[in-house]
Amino acid sequence: MIGNIHKITKRNLLKGIPWRFGPNWPGQRCKAKTRRGTLCQRPAKLPVGRCRLHGGASTGPRTKDGLKRLVESKIKHGRFTKSEREKAKQIAEKRRKIQNELKELESWFVDYGHLEKNWRKDWGKL
Ligand SMILES: [Zn+2]
Repeated sequence: MIGNIHKITKRNLLKGIPWRFGPNWPGQRCKAKTRRGTLCQRPAKLPVGRCRLHGGASTGPRTKDGLKRLVESKIKHGRFTKSEREKAKQIAEKRRKIQNELKELESWFVDYGHLEKNWRKDWGKL
């Protein structure tokens, strides 16, 4: 009976040796304070020097590719992207130019007597 217990204890001691980090493990350890007041000491895997349990909330993507994916996921229709706004600005500028030209032509026609001053009033009644 006692021998059996020793067997089980020994087996538990050997369990997970390939992935266990012993006291002589040379890598960086997590320095987060536990509820016991001691250091966590799990292997620090995150760039902030903490283990996966104490790394805190995500600070978002950092790589160019990740940021690009984030931007793409936030776009719904793309009407307010920089390039589309620039395009709309150019179209509006063109429209304003044409409108000003038409206004000039209209005043020219009125000045030379080809149109009456309030020609728009009777436009639909013809
Ligand atoms: Zn930790």
